Amino acid sequence: MSLHGTYEDDNIFAKMIAGDIPCVKVYEDDIAMAFMDIFPQSDGHTLVIPKQAKARNFLELPGDYVGSFMQRVQKVAQGVEAGLKPDGIVITQFNGAPAGQTVFHLHFHIIPRWEGKSMAGHGQAGQASPETLLPLAEKISAAIGRAS
Ligand code: 5GP
Repeated sequence: MSLHGTYEDDNIFAKMIAGDIPCVKVYEDDIAMAFMDIFPQSDGHTLVIPKQAKARNFLELPGDYVGSFMQRVQKVAQGVEAGLKPDGIVITQFNGAPAGQTVFHLHFHIIPRWEGKSMAGHGQAGQASPETLLPLAEKISAAIGRAS
């Protein structure tokens, strides 16, 4: 998939928003939804997606949506920090297959990092079980709730 193209309504993240595919959610409002990455590059790897815009990537996100959506990205990152107490956080995002994008509904990766602990490469991590993801998600969502 190139940088430009048609948004496909049946992509996996659109199905999660519709509730047709399960995910381990940490946050949701009318603007955005955040959930645990099922192939986490580190413990607590979280994805944030816009709920209303049919944007394949950041370049396609309507300008008047950018501010409200990025506030949610920051809110979830703050929740990851407060809930998991990492030493650092990578916030990243890929546009187009040549850049590494594999799911074509805009998403931001929030990847906590700890001193001395390595992180799996993008697309190179193993699948995590819901049992592993749930306690991490609970800590993050509780921290977001405390801050709201
Ligand atoms: P991209 O490669 O497009 O930047 O990121 C897509 C992300 O979605 C990857 O980090 C990948 O692990 C994650 N992902 C792919 N399929 C699923 C899924 O079914 N559930 C969840 N929670 N994450 C997924």
